[in-house]
Amino acid sequence: MGDRRPVIAGNWKMYKTGKEAVEFIDDLNELIAGVMDVEIVVAPPFTALPLVAKRIKGGPVRLAAQDLHWEPEGAYTGEISPKMLLDAGCSHVIVGHSERREYFGDTNAIVSRKIKAALAENLIPVFCIGESLEEREAEKTFSVLDKQMSEGLETIDSNDVKKIIIAYEPVWAIGTGRTASNEQAQEVHSFIRRYLTDRHGEEVGNIVRILYGGSVKPENIAGLMAAADIDGALVGGASLTASVFARIVNFPYLL
Ligand code: PEP
Repeated sequence: MGDRRPVIAGNWKMYKTGKEAVEFIDDLNELIAGVMDVEIVVAPPFTALPLVAKRIKGGPVRLAAQDLHWEPEGAYTGEISPKMLLDAGCSHVIVGHSERREYFGDTNAIVSRKIKAALAENLIPVFCIGESLEEREAEKTFSVLDKQMSEGLETIDSNDVKKIIIAYEPVWAIGTGRTASNEQAQEVHSFIRRYLTDRHGEEVGNIVRILYGGSVKPENIAGLMAAADIDGALVGGASLTASVFARIVNFPYLL
């Protein structure tokens, strides 16, 4: 893991009303009181962002949105701009999640515009990449990831790539209960780091945090975190219950 500060991020997807979100944060704040040296991020739905922002003020938890639009404003019914996310208290934003790619038409080109727009407002993009089961079985994992990274980061200056968090989420492991083995995940993470070093230089390769996502739970987090190039986790289902998410955040004490 080197000097990279670990990140544990929870993606709530389309779950939790404002009231449920506030209850979660109140519970979480108590459960993580002693945790040091872990960057904790939660990504509630848009409607809960300002309420959660109020509740995490002064504490260690950071706020992410699950998506954004790339334009600063305009006639884009239903969309949310980077400035609006800042206004709601966000410091991070998830970009290119596989569910956005699968159901909402987010292509690599769109993802690239979103990353650029987020960076322009100093929001930290959590840039999701990952292969499908068919792609893995056809041994296309590395070429798919190469394409997602080269197209997603195409217009991003290396100085900005440094600020990004990458989340490797094999699509076949998301919400399926099937986690990549520690070795499978490490193999891909080291490929991603090598890609960053080759394209953007050694400093970028050393600095960028690469999270693993896909059925992460308290039972498998410690093993994953022990791998050299895994710097944290993007957690879906197991981030919805404060006591479970807190056990993941507390991973250093499980090691
Ligand atoms: C996710 O949605 O990013 C995810 C990894 O989900 P889960 O942990 O439920 O597999």
